[in-house]
Amino acid sequence: MAQPLDDLRARLTGDVLVVGDREYERARLCFNLLIDRRPAAIARCVDVDDLATALAFGQARGLEIAVRGGGHNPAGHCVVDDGLVIDLSRMRDVRVDREKRIATSQGGATWLDFDTATQAHGLITPGGVVGSTGVTGLTLGGGIGHLTAQYGLTCDNLIAAELVTPAGEIVRACDDQNPELLWGLRGGGGNFGVVAQAEFRLHPLQHVVGGRLEYKGEGVTEALRLFRELANNGPRELSVQAQLTTDSSLAPQLVVVPCYSGEAEAPEALRSLRAVSGLVNDGVRRQGFLEQQRIFDPGYGVDRNYWKGHFVAELPDRLIDDLIGCMTTLGRPPGGILIESLHGAPKGLDPASAALDYRNAAFNISAMASWTDPAYDEESIDWTRKTAAAIEPWSVSGGYANYMQADEPIERVRAAFGPDSFARLQALKARYDPDNVLRRNQNIPPAG
Ligand SMILES: Cc1cc2nc3c(=O)[nH]c(=O)nc-3n(C[C@H](O)[C@H](O)[C@H](O)COP(=O)(O)OP(=O)(O)OC[C@H]3O[C@@H](n4cnc5c(N)ncnc54)[C@H](O)[C@@H]3O)c2cc1C
Repeated sequence: MAQPLDDLRARLTGDVLVVGDREYERARLCFNLLIDRRPAAIARCVDVDDLATALAFGQARGLEIAVRGGGHNPAGHCVVDDGLVIDLSRMRDVRVDREKRIATSQGGATWLDFDTATQAHGLITPGGVVGSTGVTGLTLGGGIGHLTAQYGLTCDNLIAAELVTPAGEIVRACDDQNPELLWGLRGGGGNFGVVAQAEFRLHPLQHVVGGRLEYKGEGVTEALRLFRELANNGPRELSVQAQLTTDSSLAPQLVVVPCYSGEAEAPEALRSLRAVSGLVNDGVRRQGFLEQQRIFDPGYGVDRNYWKGHFVAELPDRLIDDLIGCMTTLGRPPGGILIESLHGAPKGLDPASAALDYRNAAFNISAMASWTDPAYDEESIDWTRKTAAAIEPWSVSGGYANYMQADEPIERVRAAFGPDSFARLQALKARYDPDNVLRRNQNIPPAG
């Protein structure tokens, strides 16, 4: 392999890492330590020509190919044993056209790169809540975050993309060119090509009322019920997420994270959440949007993760009680259960504009086990599955592709899109990647 890799090195403007190179270990590391794979080579591309070269090289040598953006996908799709990683971590430039309110983001940019560039102009697009997550990877799976109620899913704000297909074509997808491909990119994942750059609609926003509200004891149930009311009836200017965790005594604890961008000092619904008697920490205040984006700030590559969840149409009292009960079944901190509200803007947008089928759900509820000791792998995975099974009776579609592990059956991937959209995605796959070269993702097998 040494000679062919020398050829690849000579043809790339970027660089190629192999075992033994100083940066190889860092470059193969995923956010999720459960994934531990050693690729034959990591091609760190710097432009669209590099992407095409690496894609052609991998196919010519019969290497399995993985595409890496921010490295966050819990399934570890960004790294492959003995194969070729096409790594976009050197393609992180974000350009802002302030007049047109459009950001052009290179395929490896993270949300910290993106928000820093757009906030310099007082603009944003709704993205993920952790700065090191890849913009493109998150967008291709949908995108839920602190501004979902206000501006929709991230993919609703994707207006164009430039891709390199496995055949080496450079294709632009926008309303006027290849609109079916643009539709497929809004939720259909990294199935159709490697995205060199993507364009996003921007919105003016500088400050929000946000932060963490933490509850313990009896307050956990009451606050979760109020969170549900707020999500069901709250104004469109207020996005909200909730996370169940445990405190140091292993008792359930709730963190609610609102993000309000309206004119009022604070809406009524938020005031009632702040009045719950079990509130032990009120960190809500008016702050810059970059501050809000630092609320969840987990370390990269520090723990093992296994996630599974469902979109649900409601959050009944019984489910609230079951979820709180699940937090104590393991006898040690299991990780968390994340509840993301999908009220507001996702409902008002044309469902036919994106491939995904979950915008009518009320919440996305995900059991997210995290732990460090490999001895706990089996029981942590088991906890996730059992907790997800408690949510399943209320499920209204498959799971969220962005949080899926690699062991999800194809039925769950199909259900996330619905049968008609899945068939359209399969036709797109047959057109742009008929040999399924890009299969390290929540895979859509080519039609036929
Ligand atoms: C800590 C953490 C926080 C998260 N927060 C959120 C959140 O707030 N909201 C949310 O919706 N999701 C969130 N996610 C989920 C996240 O959006 C998905 O896991 C997403 O796939 C991560 O993208 P990435 O580029 O970081 O990951 P990678 O693992 O690098 O990439 C995942 C896959 O995306 C595709 N991909 C990435 N870049 C490209 C590209 N340029 N061209 C073609 N395909 C590409 C490839 O198929 C790749 O295998 C979070 C995940 C973690 C671990």
